[in-house]
Amino acid sequence: MATWANWVGNQSFEPRDVVAVSTAEEIQQRVADAAASRTRVRTVGTAHSFTPIVETDLLLDTSAMRGIVHIDADQQLVRALPKTTIGDFGEPLWEHGLALANQGDIDTQAIAGSVATATHGSGRRFPSFSATLEGAKLVDGTGQLVEVTRQTHPDHLAALQTSIGLLGIMTELTIKLAPAYHLHARTDIMPFDEVLETFADDIDTYRHYGLFWMPTDESARLYNLEGAGADDCVVKRYLEVDPTDTVELGPHERMDRAYRIYPMVYDPNFHEVEYFLPLERWRDILVEMRRLMLRWHPLSIYPLEIRLVAAEDAWMSPNYHRENLVVSISGQPGAEYWPYLRACDSLFAEFGGRPHWGKMHFMTADRLARLFPRYENFLDVRRRFDPNGVFLNDHLQPLFG
Ligand SMILES: Cc1cc2nc3c(=O)[nH]c(=O)nc-3n(C[C@H](O)[C@H](O)[C@H](O)COP(=O)(O)OP(=O)(O)OC[C@H]3O[C@@H](n4cnc5c(N)ncnc54)[C@H](O)[C@@H]3O)c2cc1C
Repeated sequence: MATWANWVGNQSFEPRDVVAVSTAEEIQQRVADAAASRTRVRTVGTAHSFTPIVETDLLLDTSAMRGIVHIDADQQLVRALPKTTIGDFGEPLWEHGLALANQGDIDTQAIAGSVATATHGSGRRFPSFSATLEGAKLVDGTGQLVEVTRQTHPDHLAALQTSIGLLGIMTELTIKLAPAYHLHARTDIMPFDEVLETFADDIDTYRHYGLFWMPTDESARLYNLEGAGADDCVVKRYLEVDPTDTVELGPHERMDRAYRIYPMVYDPNFHEVEYFLPLERWRDILVEMRRLMLRWHPLSIYPLEIRLVAAEDAWMSPNYHRENLVVSISGQPGAEYWPYLRACDSLFAEFGGRPHWGKMHFMTADRLARLFPRYENFLDVRRRFDPNGVFLNDHLQPLFG
């Protein structure tokens, strides 16, 4: 069998089989057969995760299961197939006066992959994609097609919302939307010290606020950012605006439909770690991270990305009942970056840092039990949905087996 690799190329494996499926019934049959023969089975979104959360024996290719099924403008809900990308939602929702309430740095991920890993954008009032999941149809580990909704199974929904594919293969997702909105986006270069002065006010003023801090002069080009030198921050501040407002646009400002504003362009040249830390500790975290990265120079040349996410109810979301400052760091492919990443992990641990499921981390079952108050409840639901453990793999078994 051909080797499977993720988008950035830091994870690869050889599945025993890759099978294209296009309906829930086909998935049911495949999973039931897998359970009977003790074969492990999973599916993949667009392979943008940096962690080994796709690896399995039988990989189901759901590429044909892409597209919007139904838009309910009154209830502000959309039903979509699992491989629908974030970008696929923009235009059709707009035509119905609707939008995704927030988006991350790219819009190419599948909605199922984004929900499964609590993919997020930035903004103090906005939770991750997981929190927007109102219900889903999924094939559980016995091959049964199950429907979970907020009304019928609130506990199962809280488990499913961030479940890394461990409860089943989602065949249709219902996502809560926002009214369509325009954004006025400003990008400024500011010295680190100025950011410390303005941060507290800005995160309340702007709908979206996020920044990249540059440890070196060469850092900015690694993420296709421009003009920022060592110890500068590229600060992104977005306000919701009425499109009829007259807004004078400077050279680093844009105004457009929201879904056109969010996406950035990345090259697959970084291996990323991301942790979620209590927002109230933001000043200590920024100062300590800067100190640690400068001490570890020259390996820590990638920009430090800082974002914000609101608290949410998903049991295994890093934002479970806590608003977070999100800290992303990257290692350079080919470089011996593990000591640097481990040093960051130790610092994050001091702040009770929780991991992004799609980014590299150093979790153990003990750590998860300490960090996630509903961890045991999640394990119970996981075992109920997948009694034979067909959705586990060598990375997930020690964490959730
Ligand atoms: C360039 C780049 C930019 C990024 N930007 C951000 C960002 O701004 N914010 C952020 O939070 N993250 C970001 N990420 C991380 C990324 O959003 C997550 O890793 C996300 O999971 C990727 O979505 P995907 O569709 O590629 O999922 P995959 O990586 O393909 O899969 C993720 C998980 O979902 C499971 N899964 C997929 N489909 C289904 C299904 N139908 N049913 C059940 N489980 C399923 C898979 O088995 C796997 O466990 C970025 C990553 C890259 C490479």
